[in-house]
Amino acid sequence: MTTAFTLHQVSKRYGAHTALHPLDLTVEAGQRLVLIGPSGSGKSTLLRLMVGLDEASTGEVRFGQERVTADRSAALRRRLGYVVQGGGLFPHLTALENVSLVARHLGWDRERRLARASELAQLVRLPDDVLERYPIQLSGGQAQRVSLMRALMLDPEVLLLDEPLGALDPITRHELQTDLREIFQRLQKTVVMVTHDLGEALYFADRIVLMREGRIVQDGPPADLLERPADAFVTRFVRAQRAPLAEPGP
Ligand code: ADP
Repeated sequence: MTTAFTLHQVSKRYGAHTALHPLDLTVEAGQRLVLIGPSGSGKSTLLRLMVGLDEASTGEVRFGQERVTADRSAALRRRLGYVVQGGGLFPHLTALENVSLVARHLGWDRERRLARASELAQLVRLPDDVLERYPIQLSGGQAQRVSLMRALMLDPEVLLLDEPLGALDPITRHELQTDLREIFQRLQKTVVMVTHDLGEALYFADRIVLMREGRIVQDGPPADLLERPADAFVTRFVRAQRAPLAEPGP
């Protein structure tokens, strides 16, 4: 199996605050890895370092053989599809223009851009005419589908998603969950997804990395989290998410 990412002793500080303590992580090609943990545990920071949007304070991030650095981020981003909560679309561009922007910069002609966008619209189950709209005219679910199209436009090797379903109402969220998993299965790409929701992690992942306060607490197959929790924190985290309404009252 080839390796998608290798992180060696990677840490991140913001001023006096340590967002990530030195950690090692290897992601194999084809894995669907979910980073999970409470808010502020360092999940997004870790993802941003993998995309090259942030520079590590210590250590090294590699994508395949290549070192990921902020100044190489633009070139690497063509091989990494990145999706953020809310979609992160440019408000002054239509959905189609958002999706096609980088391909256009790379010199793809109009016909090729339209053909690829149309193919992706079908994949994410979005009617072609929705692509003419501006982001403000899209529902949350549609915006997220457009964002996914944008991330897939150049057929990247890896998809990195930061809480892609976080801002959606429960029904839209459920629909997109189902579609997203099907898309992952169909495309067979390496996926790294951030969520704070255990149900979602279990639904998508073949490997779960649980974080707490900038450290990896547990890393393994989803079942391990439930059956072989690494410590008392993991047990608490799982219990809090699995049965929030079943806790005994005062
Ligand atoms: P998570 O994604 O798990 O919610 P983050 O990676 O966003 O956590 O944040 C980890 C920690 O780093 C938090 O304490 C957060 O406040 C801090 N942090 C994140 N980004 C910045 C930044 N740009 N400047 C300062 N602190 C930051």
